[in-house]
Amino acid sequence: MQSAKKSLGQNFLIDKNIINKILNLLILKDKNIIEIGPGKGALTDEILKRKPSKLTLIEKDDNLCKSLKDKYRGNNILKIYNNDILKFPLEKIIKKETIILGNLPYNISSQILVQILRFKKWPPKFSDLIFMFQKELGKKVVSLYPSKGYGRLSILSNLKLKVDQSFLVSPNSFSPKPKVTSMIIHFKPKLKKIYKINNLKTLEKITNILFSNKRKMINKSIKKILNYKEIKKIKNLNLSSRPSEIKPEVYYRIAEIFESK
Ligand code: SAM
Repeated sequence: MQSAKKSLGQNFLIDKNIINKILNLLILKDKNIIEIGPGKGALTDEILKRKPSKLTLIEKDDNLCKSLKDKYRGNNILKIYNNDILKFPLEKIIKKETIILGNLPYNISSQILVQILRFKKWPPKFSDLIFMFQKELGKKVVSLYPSKGYGRLSILSNLKLKVDQSFLVSPNSFSPKPKVTSMIIHFKPKLKKIYKINNLKTLEKITNILFSNKRKMINKSIKKILNYKEIKKIKNLNLSSRPSEIKPEVYYRIAEIFESK
């Protein structure tokens, strides 16, 4: 058996209790499931025991993918793609009421989350999202205004997702053992579109500019986005605030005005 590839974030789950705790977050029977980065199949085996109607796996590692294909040969509810998730047309293959889950490769987990937030159709076809992140990153995703981890990632995800539950996972639950604690987050998509932001990239751009210097007041950087008249349209915008002192709703409003230019 090949050794774990660090470059692909391969830390395999070995703790049955944690695997069950993750999968017990939802009823999987008769559901469509997509698993990102199945690895050796630690989660996959348990998902299959719960009798989903369809299970799609997306794994980048050629060798692991070949082993998975051998392991599950003849199982006709399974479809296995040997692909890089970041280049994979995830939105296209999703069927209604799908559950997306994965113990994500840490180095690209925020990119995977953003890839999903960029889905064109919203509310999306998936009903639930369960991802494992590094704890530090997970905290940045769940931290709402006004808290320490609040920033770009929570502003982006809070536009479209709500956190249902989260819990921590010790390094001892994996092999090889990662250096840091992990965090499971169960999200559900927000169904109502409150802000008229058509392209997530607008909000990505705006938060990127305004958070480019976290300690500085936004009075200068905001001029790269809006003119004086447009700035005046935004209620509750204090130009001497630092980026983390501004509520998510204000960022969403800035994005709306920027897109309507
Ligand atoms: N799900 C397995 C488990 O819990 O034991 C493995 C999780 S491991 C943290 C991440 C998995 O994602 C690895 O199998 C790795 O090869 C795969 N992976 C890494 N980069 C990927 C990518 N860009 N697209 C798809 N899979 C990827």
